Amino acid sequence: MARSFDFVVGGGSIAGLTFAAEAAGRGASVLVVEEHEEIGEPEKCDGLVSLRGLRRFGYLPRPEVIQNQIMAAVVHSPGGKRFAVSASALEVVVLDRSAYDKQVARQAESAGATVRTGARVDGALQSQEAVTVRVGDESMECKYYVDATGPSPALRDGILPAAKYELEGDWVSQRLVDVYLDADLYPGFFAWVIPSGGHRAKVGAAGRGINPFRALDAIIAGKQTTILKRVSAPIYVGGPKGRFVDHRVIFVGESAGQVKPTTAGGIMTSVAGAVSAARWACEGVRRDDPSLLGNYQREWDAVFRKEMSTMARVRGVFEKLSNRDMESVIEMLATPRVVARVSQSDFDFHASALLGALGLSGVLRMARVVGSAEVRSLIQRDPSP
Ligand SMILES: Cc1cc2nc3c(=O)[nH]c(=O)nc-3n(C[C@H](O)[C@H](O)[C@H](O)COP(=O)(O)OP(=O)(O)OC[C@H]3O[C@@H](n4cnc5c(N)ncnc54)[C@H](O)[C@@H]3O)c2cc1C
Repeated sequence: MARSFDFVVGGGSIAGLTFAAEAAGRGASVLVVEEHEEIGEPEKCDGLVSLRGLRRFGYLPRPEVIQNQIMAAVVHSPGGKRFAVSASALEVVVLDRSAYDKQVARQAESAGATVRTGARVDGALQSQEAVTVRVGDESMECKYYVDATGPSPALRDGILPAAKYELEGDWVSQRLVDVYLDADLYPGFFAWVIPSGGHRAKVGAAGRGINPFRALDAIIAGKQTTILKRVSAPIYVGGPKGRFVDHRVIFVGESAGQVKPTTAGGIMTSVAGAVSAARWACEGVRRDDPSLLGNYQREWDAVFRKEMSTMARVRGVFEKLSNRDMESVIEMLATPRVVARVSQSDFDFHASALLGALGLSGVLRMARVVGSAEVRSLIQRDPSP
């Protein structure tokens, strides 16, 4: 007879593990199936996150998981202009992402979940009452299947090629994140240097149609550098899916598109999705009522949908900018007033903060510089979530 659980979770990364910890903590029987042999490996993510966001949802990293605290971000224009935004009030840290996933896996196991590595979910077939999940030659029965397997083929339009080096070099700043904009080198995205402690950094590049490793080699050319790790890891910037729940199949984290369209940051938003999904899924089991899962969608939308839609519109403008436009826009942003407002804002709601700081007059001035319909879309009202 097939083994049976309240929840089988496909994918043992941050979304799946948070769901498991939360649901097992509420007394549910949970099996997590992760295709890789070791939780957290291979590590793709750079782990840049605000503690404020994680605290809100109850999944703070332990101190030993934090590699560095970030004091500012420096944005570099294609022509070499720079402006810095202080992050000292924003509680931005760099996590050892692999260690963070292991921390949450231990939390899930202590709460009673089973985490099985080196096994792959090959399919999930739902009926009115249950879901049959195929893992290799085995079949498992569960009340709900939780898809936490990362971006699915259905989200492929939002995926950009990306790669990163973990490296050591005496040129790495200790506490500054560098962001390099260049519409020719990184179309539709940017390159970044995230210091992870000492002289170590995670250096990445992403962009439409680029070879990201070539872009990375250009960034480190002429600099004294030891490359410790090379990782090819596409990023997702396509925005949240319309529906997170399909009857007894629940999507959480990147498989639900719960990722910021501006920066591809998805740790906090995935944790938020998993916590809410687990809460309502456990209620669904307790009251034998799958319709309660609709509250998960509503809860996540109420907090994030509007900001994600603003981020998507900011991204729409950004994608249209030529290098010349970027110089003008950066000049507009690099005023003491805008920089001060953004420095005091919320790391996870940066698009609204930026537009708020620019104000209507700033956006209209930008429309004169860039002149695109996308800029006008920034001053349109958001649809209600
Ligand atoms: C290069 C890069 C840098 C990033 N940097 C940051 C950052 O600094 N800050 C930030 O907030 N976010 C960052 N992100 C985004 C962040 O990593 C993701 O949003 C987050 O990891 C999403 O978590 P997830 O659990 O939804 O999915 P994922 O982390 O993608 O995990 C999916 C898991 O499912 C497993 N899996 C897939 N298919 C199956 C299957 N069929 N059966 C079993 N297991 C399966 C995979 O092995 C994987 O472990 C970055 C992403 C990339 C690629």
